[in-house]
Amino acid sequence: MNDTTQVKTKQQLLDELKVRIEAANVTPELKAQATQLVFGDGDAETDVVFIGEAPGKHEDEQGKPFVGAAGKFLNEMLEMVGLTRGEVYITNIVKYRPPNNRDPESAEKEAWLPYLQEQLDIIQPKLIVTLGRHSMDVLLPGLKISQVHGQPKRYKDHVYLPLFHPAAALYNSGMRQTLIDDFALIPTILKKINDNI
Ligand code: URA
Repeated sequence: MNDTTQVKTKQQLLDELKVRIEAANVTPELKAQATQLVFGDGDAETDVVFIGEAPGKHEDEQGKPFVGAAGKFLNEMLEMVGLTRGEVYITNIVKYRPPNNRDPESAEKEAWLPYLQEQLDIIQPKLIVTLGRHSMDVLLPGLKISQVHGQPKRYKDHVYLPLFHPAAALYNSGMRQTLIDDFALIPTILKKINDNI
């Protein structure tokens, strides 16, 4: 007897989730003002997922996360730790651009959280790096970014590394260096996870 059951790849499952999100009308007010959904980008089979806040102008235009100035800085830091964008996966908690780049509202973050969780359930990364306090808040509630940045946290079956947001650090030299130093911990943290330490 032929077994015709086909296991879907993570990328196929992500593609299906994206189609479902587009049909679901999540945060319709944001959707109405945005150019397009900014779902996520990178390798679905990766060990590391980076999660930002929400798309800005350039992301909204191009349909990809972190393609503006903050994205350029993120790319530089990835390169510093020997990673490329193609080897990691990058997404945001809110996937339509908030008007005038305002902070995402609590209701918007709540509306998007189940979809972010589905994305993470599909990818099953070894390490989730939160960029900025908004993404830390939804995934690691109750912490203060100024106190916990750069400290890996085990929470609900995942390992998280909370970091400052690259956009916040761009023009603040102290925060910029702190972010670079925290980012440099990623290979060691991944090695410890792989070695089961
Ligand atoms: N800032 C974010 O949080 N996400 C992006 O995609 C771009 C800038």
